[in-house]
Amino acid sequence: MTWLDDFDARLAEHAAAHLTRVRRVVVPESGARLTVNGRSMLAFCSNDYLGLAGHPALKAAVHAAVDTYGVGSGASPMVSGYSAANAALEAELAAFVQLPNALYFYAGYATNASIVPALVGPGDAIFSDALNHACLIDGCRLSKAQVHRFDHARLEALEAQLAAEPARRKLIISDAVFSMDGDVADIATVVSLAERHDALVLLDDAHGFGLLGPQGRGALSAVGLTGSKASPRVLYMATLGKALGVAGAFVAGPERLVEWLLQKTRSYTYATAAPALLAESLRAALRVVESLEGDERRAHLQSLIARLRDGLSPGADAAIDAAGWSLMDSPTPIQPLVIGDNAASLRVMQGLQDAGLWVPAIRPPTVPAGTARLRIALSAAHQHADVDLLVRSLRTLARAG
Ligand SMILES: *Cc1c(COP(=O)(O)O)cnc(C)c1O
Repeated sequence: MTWLDDFDARLAEHAAAHLTRVRRVVVPESGARLTVNGRSMLAFCSNDYLGLAGHPALKAAVHAAVDTYGVGSGASPMVSGYSAANAALEAELAAFVQLPNALYFYAGYATNASIVPALVGPGDAIFSDALNHACLIDGCRLSKAQVHRFDHARLEALEAQLAAEPARRKLIISDAVFSMDGDVADIATVVSLAERHDALVLLDDAHGFGLLGPQGRGALSAVGLTGSKASPRVLYMATLGKALGVAGAFVAGPERLVEWLLQKTRSYTYATAAPALLAESLRAALRVVESLEGDERRAHLQSLIARLRDGLSPGADAAIDAAGWSLMDSPTPIQPLVIGDNAASLRVMQGLQDAGLWVPAIRPPTVPAGTARLRIALSAAHQHADVDLLVRSLRTLARAG
């Protein structure tokens, strides 16, 4: 056996553990409908929470931008990739989240993997929620700082770790909305702990930006920590491929921290800038998000969340409860139904698929072992009847065992 033969054996082991991931070719139809491998499906798998990915205003902005800027950005933002569109977007993002400055990146993964090592290094200390997104974890590893992982949302544990840590530079890292559980961090407490222990905070609001707070200004705005109340020690990061419906990410915060990241973040310096056509579509998305239409979309989404929870929460349906399936306690459009076993979660996913519904099963290592789940993602593009169909189908599958 050579090293090359190992790959076959290891792929077979991976398959035997029901962990093989399979991609599906999708073509968007309208709303939350997709053609998946040639078949029309109702999808609950997208992070396009406000249904903006196919919005006419965003499409029109792209068409106009292509005429002005062409397609590619040509180089890093440090060289020639910093278009007028990208500059305008940064100013508008900072204004929208009510923080002094913002830096626009081509992807969220690259942002987090790279800003953490820009902030801390060997000899420094990181405090990281156990359920933080993979790209934050990778950023921690790349930094070579010492990492203290605290149990999910256990801020007493965080406080004890902060008190015991002698390092001068301490960075607390947390998702604002946890991507596989849908729950929201206690941001006000995290920030007050940072103040007490002279630490910085990096908050990843990938799943709250556009949804939480007045006009969707995000998780920090929702707890009143923006504008004149903004903390000098908080960096706010959010992605632009979820509620904003496009792609990319940004970091916003105090001038000197953002300037430091501009100087020191390798994925900013050494990567081709996002093309202006994306920046222009994002500017159009921001205008929708902050408008009355944005409020209507958020209100509709809330009504869908309430409807799903009425149908699936513990106590709502005897068969769901008897099957041991449990809807997690989430106020956001991420509504995970925990099945537990990997193979069982795949069977439920398949049962829904046979009924024309696509809800992805999420398995370890994305979630802890024994908590395989269906990650139901709701979107303003859904209708009440779509949610009703999902609830009925899940109840039927639970009854069938
Ligand atoms: C999606 C996501 C990212 C990565 O962002 P991309 O733009 O998709 O690379 C980062 N953090 C969290 C919490 C996410 O859910």
